[in-house]
Amino acid sequence: MPTYEYHCKECGYYFEVKATVKEKEEGLNIHCEQCGSENLNQVFGGFAILGGQAVNVKSRESQNGGGCCSGAGSGCC
Ligand SMILES: [Zn+2]
Repeated sequence: MPTYEYHCKECGYYFEVKATVKEKEEGLNIHCEQCGSENLNQVFGGFAILGGQAVNVKSRESQNGGGCCSGAGSGCC
């Protein structure tokens, strides 16, 4: 079953929703698990579509300098 990731515009919470493609096509009534808001962005691979523009909403996890990913091409992760 595919997992869909959502970002709450109200409180900034990230959460995942499991649903079949059929269920998604029929429309899911998804609320933020933290604040209950329906004001959500769907996130695709760490990118949320905001006003037609892809924005990296997880940049804090991929910034250089803090982990093993600081060296490009090292292949460690
Ligand atoms: Zn929320």
